[in-house]
Formats: sequence, structure tokens, C-alpha cells
Amino acid sequence: MVTFDKHWHHLEGDEVAALLSVDPKAGLDQFETEQRSKRYGENVITGKRVKTPFERFMLQFHQPLVYILVVAGLVTAILGEWVDSSVIMAVVLVNALVGYFQEAKALKALQSLSASMRVEALVLRAGEQVRLPASALVPGDVVLLRSGDKVPADMRVFSERELRIDESTLTGESVPVEKNAAPSPKDAVLADRHCMAYAGTLVSYGQGRGVVVGTGNYTEIGRISGLIDSADELETPLTRKIAKFSHMLLIAILILAAVTMVLGLIRSEPLEEMFMAAVALAVGAIPEGLPAAVTIILAMGVSRMAGRKAVIRKLPAVETLGGTTVICSDKTGTLTENQMTVQSVYSGGTLFDVSGIGYGSEGEVTAREGVDARESQALAECLRAGLLCNDARIRSRDGQLYVEGDPTEGALVVAAAKLGMTLETEAPQRPRIDELPFESEWRYMATLHETGDGAVVYMKGAVEKILECCSGAMMADGSNGPLDADGIIEVQRTLAAQGLRVLALARNILPGKERLKREKACMGMEFLGLQGMIDPPREEAVKAVAACQKAGVKVKMITGDHALTAEAIGKMLGLRGTSCTLGEDCPILTGSDIAELSDKQLIERVADVPVFARVSPEQKLRLVMALQARGEVCAMTGDGVNDAPALKQADIGIAMGINGTEVAKEASDMILTDDNFATITAAVEEGRGVYANLIKFIAWTLPTNAGEGLVILTAILFQTALPILPVQILWINMTTAVCLGMTLAFEPKEPGIMDRPPHKPDRPILDRVVLRRIGMVSLMLLLFAFGLFKWELLSGASPEKARTIAVNVFVVIEAFYLFNARSFRRSPFELGLGTNLWVVGGFALMMVLQLLFTYLPFMNNLFSTAPIGLFDWVKIALCGMVVFLIVEYDKRRVGSDV
Ligand code: ATP
Repeated sequence: MVTFDKHWHHLEGDEVAALLSVDPKAGLDQFETEQRSKRYGENVITGKRVKTPFERFMLQFHQPLVYILVVAGLVTAILGEWVDSSVIMAVVLVNALVGYFQEAKALKALQSLSASMRVEALVLRAGEQVRLPASALVPGDVVLLRSGDKVPADMRVFSERELRIDESTLTGESVPVEKNAAPSPKDAVLADRHCMAYAGTLVSYGQGRGVVVGTGNYTEIGRISGLIDSADELETPLTRKIAKFSHMLLIAILILAAVTMVLGLIRSEPLEEMFMAAVALAVGAIPEGLPAAVTIILAMGVSRMAGRKAVIRKLPAVETLGGTTVICSDKTGTLTENQMTVQSVYSGGTLFDVSGIGYGSEGEVTAREGVDARESQALAECLRAGLLCNDARIRSRDGQLYVEGDPTEGALVVAAAKLGMTLETEAPQRPRIDELPFESEWRYMATLHETGDGAVVYMKGAVEKILECCSGAMMADGSNGPLDADGIIEVQRTLAAQGLRVLALARNILPGKERLKREKACMGMEFLGLQGMIDPPREEAVKAVAACQKAGVKVKMITGDHALTAEAIGKMLGLRGTSCTLGEDCPILTGSDIAELSDKQLIERVADVPVFARVSPEQKLRLVMALQARGEVCAMTGDGVNDAPALKQADIGIAMGINGTEVAKEASDMILTDDNFATITAAVEEGRGVYANLIKFIAWTLPTNAGEGLVILTAILFQTALPILPVQILWINMTTAVCLGMTLAFEPKEPGIMDRPPHKPDRPILDRVVLRRIGMVSLMLLLFAFGLFKWELLSGASPEKARTIAVNVFVVIEAFYLFNARSFRRSPFELGLGTNLWVVGGFALMMVLQLLFTYLPFMNNLFSTAPIGLFDWVKIALCGMVVFLIVEYDKRRVGSDV
């Protein structure tokens, strides 16, 4: 019986395995996993502390506007105005409901996406390594950890290789902790239990194996529920700015309202009227609904982007994407297919061509100079090294071959198969007994294999790196000869210039079987050869790069690969500098160049370089900072553990969904589910659409508030009756926001949105054109609403009727202006009415509501309105049309790049 003992760390690894009835070499069998899965349930934490729907609903009342309304409601009740009081209270309730549902929809969009990005784990089951969703783990499962993984459950580590884990989520300690398999003292605190790996922590280096001892709520992180950040952050810089602006406005308006009251008292006007004027001013002028509307528009952007394979993890990213000015992208897998095929092998002084494409073993190895490939010992050993110093497997699914593991390594397996060598034939003769895994910062991988009389180390990696470790080279006949490093580098350059990714291979025969150590591994090696593999650019990436460059978004390729390979691929992709052509006069910076530049020099040089080669992940951080120092809005892709700091620093950190590590995903703002560069371009395009819709919405909504504020202020100033009452203002704000304003969120992207440069990073939301539009419409609202109200009163109409007309003027002008607001540069006729039927539907619904508001006796009672005549409607419609025409005329005069 398995118990969730607290002292696993104090037991030996095999004791833990025995207690959990598992063979650490084979893992659990199917029967056991099914049994345990029934007994212990899924490996998910259920006790997450998130706000309940009720709490979320109650929080809707926590807004200054609501406070004002509640006070207004209470005061009107005390004054005996029961109808007004209940309308105000009803509005408070409806407002909270609308806010709640909008927020819930936005949250759902975000949360369902983050749930779809499930964490996977590499598990040993019935002797086979399988990838499973982390939720399927049970106590006793043997899990393999590799750098970049998120630890999927609490585990007792029983073997490891340079394993380091970042436990900051759990212990707060930011430096990764070294792990080892030895038991820790019984009383060791969590942070000192070096043989344990805890769920939710991140593997930052090395490899390890462990037995699962706790799952779901029984993990350490599960116990301290509430620690896990859930995707419920709905604030963005923009909503924060708007909220701050509303609060400042509120204070200004409250002061203004207080001054009005005092003035009224001095002028001995009725207290009640002055109070209502102050309330009207406050509820009218404060755009309280704006942050919620902005959130919902952003959330809709999230859904649209998800439809195009870009999963947004942090809402602000949607806002920033539209303003992206530079995209720094990895090469392998993002800009290229990541389907590698070895095309050339250089060994024993001869260059061999390898035919055949894909992962099938059909193909031949032929020498260019008439040597028989089967007779070259160096070639055989070079291919063998590639096969054995390798973790990838070629598998078949539905008759299709695919690589499980790193495609670079997959290519080496396939190349060896073309000379008849497979793992089945080679591995038993040289079983692997130790390894140094590939890490980007070392640029090589090494494995140790047992041979009859000793051991052999196989090593593969970047050519410069391997050459550093070699002191001789294998000749075609298998003998050891001198190392011609210059000649090898020359061959590498030739291959790289064709866009091939070149890997060097080497070996070292050892008398003993001592474990491999990084410090000692790189010496006395025998060079075996080079393998050059093609990784063609993705077709869609070529188009996407062109689209970005046309849209004024610079594309920079940042790769760990060789400068010449990078340049050749860059050329195929059509990359260019701001004022240079790649392959002609464009500079290429390599990791060592960057290391020599000071920050200031880097900032100066970074702008015009389209390709950065042999860059280490740490240097990516410097590159992002240099670009940001130039005022660029920088999107940066990454997949490895060491990319995390750069992803965090970038304005948009982009992680790869398929090949990315959990660490990179965790640090990112956006995840590409298809690892494809073209998806970034699609997201930028959607981001621009969302940004444009936000500005259109803001430009449409603010005149209502400004207009209402102006009308009330004018009335106070001229000591006349209020043209619109507080409850009527509430009616206008609520109904127009829902029926009219929200329809702008469905506005499709305008044609040519990717034909113009990105908006300037420091550009204020309310720029000159937007402010001018808001000012103009607000003044027209004031003029027409106040004018018609006065006219009606002067022609003997009742205040109720005059107010009904004023309210209708407001609504109709806003409804007409909605058609203007669909674009800052095109007329709605150019856009076509059919392109956003929501606007037409919203307009129609709004008109029906206004008819009810005007003619339904019940509404007349509630809102103190009165029926109006046909001629009044003509006047009102004329007002709407005049505003529409003036704005259209103004559009032609003052264009905007929104
Ligand atoms: P990108 O950053 O564009 O994805 P990359 O895949 O070339 O480029 P890295 O994965 O950091 O970047 O690889 C850097 C270099 O290390 C490669 O150019 C290659 O020479 C070597 N290399 C890559 N993968 C392996 C591997 N599995 N084993 C040994 N060496 C490798």
C-alpha cells in the first residue's frame, strides 16, 4: 500500500522504489498504472485559490462610479423620489451584471487557452519511454527530467547528470539548486532536500530520473494552494492608464460638483436640483465602463489569435503586438522546416554526397573522388559516432516516419542507416554507460560507450568546438593522422555557404570506464569527420518575412548556427537590413563579435544587422536590451532554458509550443502552437487590428462622456434646467455602450493594415487626430442637444418632451457617428456595410430601444420621458446626418494611420 510518507528524502533511492513497488529500470506496467490512477486520481491540483464567481460579482461594485450612484440612489430615496432611486439602483445592478459577464467572457478566453497548453512528461512505462500529459502520472511512475522541463510531480531523484533545478516557485530561492541521488538528513528542510524534485519547479540544467512520490494535491505545491498563478490577470497597461485617468477625472469632477453645489447654495437655488446636477455631471463625464470594454476587445483579440495558432499567455501582449517594430527569431524550426537531412559527409579527407530525402533509409553515400564509401573506415566511424552519440529515434505513425527527439540528431540516425548502420546493429556492441547532454552553451554532446577492452567517447557538436578538443584525425584507412584544422574549416565554410548546418564528430578511445566530466572531456580527441545537413526555409516563412518587412517590422535572425549557414538561409528567406542587402554589404555579427562590443557600441551596431550567428542564449538578452535602448518594441522567440531571461525582457516573449521547453513557455507572453514564424506575423497583424479597434472604440465612446459633461456644465453655468437627467444619462451610457460601442469590437481588419509602418512606441492613445475627432463630436453633441432642448422649451414644450428630444439627439448622433468610427480614413461606404453587420444590427436595436424609451408609458414613468412627434424625429435625424457628414468631410482632410 502506498502512503504519502513525508520522509522520502531520507530513504535510499532503491528503498523508495521498493516501497512504491516499481522497477526503476522499467517503470510501472499498464495494470499497475490503471489501478493507481483509480486510487489516486489525476495529477492535478484542485484546490487552486481563484476568485469565486460571487466574489467577482461583488467586486463589480467596487468602483467609484458605483459609490456615487449608490449615494445618489440613497439621497433620492430620502428625498422621496422613489422612481429615480429605483432606476439608479437597477442601473447599478445591470452595470454590475454587464461588467461581470464581460469579465467572465474575457477570463474564459484566457483560461481555456492556458488549459489547452498542457504540460507533458517523459515517463518510463513497461520498459518504454513515452510522452504523457503530466496529469496522467501516478505515484511510482519513473519520470525522466531534462533541462527545460517543468517537474510534473513530487519525485525522489535516484540518478542524475549535472541536474540543477530552479525551485524559486516553492522556496523563493532564485539560484538553481544542485540535485544528487544521495539521501538527505531526516530533518532537512524543503530547500535542503537535494534528492527531491518538486512539482512546479523548473529543471534549469542537466538530466535526471526519479520516482513519483506525490501527485496532485499531495505535492508540496498542492499543499500550499494559492501559490500557483492562474491566468486571471485581466489588467493591461492600457486598462490601467484608463482606470487612472478615470480616477483623476473623478476627483476633478467631484471638486467641480462641490463647487457647483456651493455656488448654487450661494445663489440660493434648490439643494435637490443642485445635487442632481452634480450627480449627473459625475455619472456622465466619467468613462467608467471603458476599462471593461477595452478588456473585452483585447480578449476577443486573444481568441482570434488562438484561431491563428498564437496562444496569448498575458493579455497585455495583445496590446503590444500591434506596435511591434522588430521580431528577433530563431532559425531552426521557426524560420526553417526543422526537417534535417544529411547531404554531405567529409571524412578521411574525402567529401561524400548522401542522396535521398526524408527519414527513410533509402539513399546512397557516394564519394566525389571515386573512393568507395564502403571502404572508408573514417566514414563508417563518423557515421557510427553520429548514430551512437544521439538520443533521437526514427519512428513510424500511420505509415509516416517521424523523428522522436532532436531533428538534428534524427538526420544523423538516417545518414548512418544509409550505410547500413542502425542502433540495433551498433548499440549492443557499444552500450552507452554515460553521457554529457547537449547544452547550447557548450555546443557539443558526448557519450561514453563500453567496448570489449575499455571504452570509447563519441562527441559531436559545432565544428570550432570539436576542433578545440582534437589532437589528431582518423584517416580513410582507420589510422590516426595529423589534424588539418584549416582544411576542415575550409570544407565547413564551403558546406555552410550552401546553407548546410555542419556538425563535427570525434572520438577518444579510453583504457578505463571513468565517468565523463565536462572539464576533462574536451581533450585528446580524434577527429572523425563533418556531416552537413540541409534544413530548408519554410515556404510560409519566406512570405511572412516579406510581409513583415513591407509592414515596417524588421526581422532579425538570431541563431546558434554558423555565420555562413545563417547567411545562406537568411538570403533564401529574403532578410535584409534597413539600408543594406544580405550577402552584399550587410554586416553579420557573431557571438564573439558581440562579446567584444560594449553595450554602447552594441546599441549603435545592432540596428542594421539582419543576422546574428553563433549567439549564446545569454547574448540574446543583451541584444533585446540594445534594441529596446533604441526605442524598438521587440518580439523575441526562444525555446531553451537559457532563453528565459531574454523572453522575459522582450516586449513580447514568444515560446515554441512544440519544441519549446516548459521554462521558455513559462517566461513567455505568447506561445506558437506550430513553432512557425508565419504565425508571429499573423499575430502582429491581428494585434494591429485589435489596437485599431481599441482606438476606434475609444474615439467613439469618449464624446458621449465629454458631451454629457459639457451639457450639464453649460446648464449649470447658464442656470437653466438640466437638458438630461442623471437617470437619462445612465440610460444613454448603458444602452449605447452595449448596443453600439461593442459592435466596433467585431470590426474586421482594414485592408492594407500590413502595408503601413507600426505605430510609434511613444505615441499616445489619444493622439492629435483622435483628440480632434473627440473634441469635434463632443462640441456638436453639446450644440445640438442643448440647442434643440432650448428650442423645444422656447416653443412651449414640456421639460419632459424637451429632455426626451435631447436624449434622442445624443443617442442618434452616437449611432450615426458609429458608422464614422469604423475607420479613421475610409468612409463606411468604402468599407461596405456588409463587412460588419453587427454595427447595422446594433443600430437597429438601439432605434427600437429609443422608441420604447420615448413611447412606452412604463418607460416614460421610469425615465421622466414623453412621446415626441414625427417632425421632432426629422430634426433629430438631421442632427445625426450633419454630424456624420462633417466627420466624413474631416476624415478626407485629416487622415490618420490608425
Ligand atoms: P537556433 O537558435 O536558430 O534554433 P541552433 O539550433 O543552431 O539555432 P543551438 O541549438 O544552440 O542553435 O545549436 C548551436 C550549435 O550546436 C549548432 O549549430 C550545432 O553545431 C550544435 N548542435 C546543435 N544541436 C546539437 C546536438 N544535438 N548535439 C551536438 N551539437 C549540436
